[in-house]
Amino acid sequence: MNTPLVVANWKMHGDQASCARLARQIVRALRHQPASAEVVLAPPFTALNAVQRRLSGSPIKLAAQNCHWEVQGAYTGEISPVMVRELGCTFVIVGHSERRHVFQESDDMIARKLAPVLRQGMRAILCVGETLDQRQAKKTATVIHRQLRIALKGLTKADIANSEIAYEPVWAIGTGQNATPKQISQVHRLIRKCLTNRFGPSAGKHARILYGGSVKPENVASLVAVEEIDGFLVGGASLQSETFLPIIRAFSQK
Ligand code: PEP
Repeated sequence: MNTPLVVANWKMHGDQASCARLARQIVRALRHQPASAEVVLAPPFTALNAVQRRLSGSPIKLAAQNCHWEVQGAYTGEISPVMVRELGCTFVIVGHSERRHVFQESDDMIARKLAPVLRQGMRAILCVGETLDQRQAKKTATVIHRQLRIALKGLTKADIANSEIAYEPVWAIGTGQNATPKQISQVHRLIRKCLTNRFGPSAGKHARILYGGSVKPENVASLVAVEEIDGFLVGGASLQSETFLPIIRAFSQK
């Protein structure tokens, strides 16, 4: 089995002090009782530095929630892959559904971000997922195929070895509604098949495919039992150590 990966996406929540406090709680808890999963924290940009200082010397990694595709230039309000790497990020989330749907990032824009993240020596967490309308219209497979085909267009086998894919059905993010184990297995298998077809069996086998969408301590046991799940991308439940730690620990039983 691939080493499980659990990513906390704190979105636009928390100031420097509260993010640093939460990071410290997680570091301490995992020092006391190490996790079998790899753990990554993605605080808001403004707290990256404060959180990075708490993480130094611990196995927990730092992620940016987004970045631009250019390394520098006249892009007011944007942050480049070089800038987030300089702050200690080793992962970047790319194509989160809030970027796609709230900020109108297209498949092409998302595709342009992946290679620059990888060229800076960071790992990319590429998010894909269908809306409720698309699922109800039985277009889930078409949407996932399209998102992957465009995003992965210019990437090599070595690039995919440095990337994770997160399946996040848009209708399950922040809604309290989970995809069922059957729905998740189907989409994760489809993602793995796409990767295998495009990059070969070894790349397909070793890619980590995460699930995201209202993962909570109450439902994590049933989700962790889904063979095709290699980890989680967690929003709301990652904002408190009391709810995030049980999600990390769930993989000790897998
Ligand atoms: C997310 O932001 O990627 C997410 C899955 O959020 P939540 O866990 O709150 O649904």
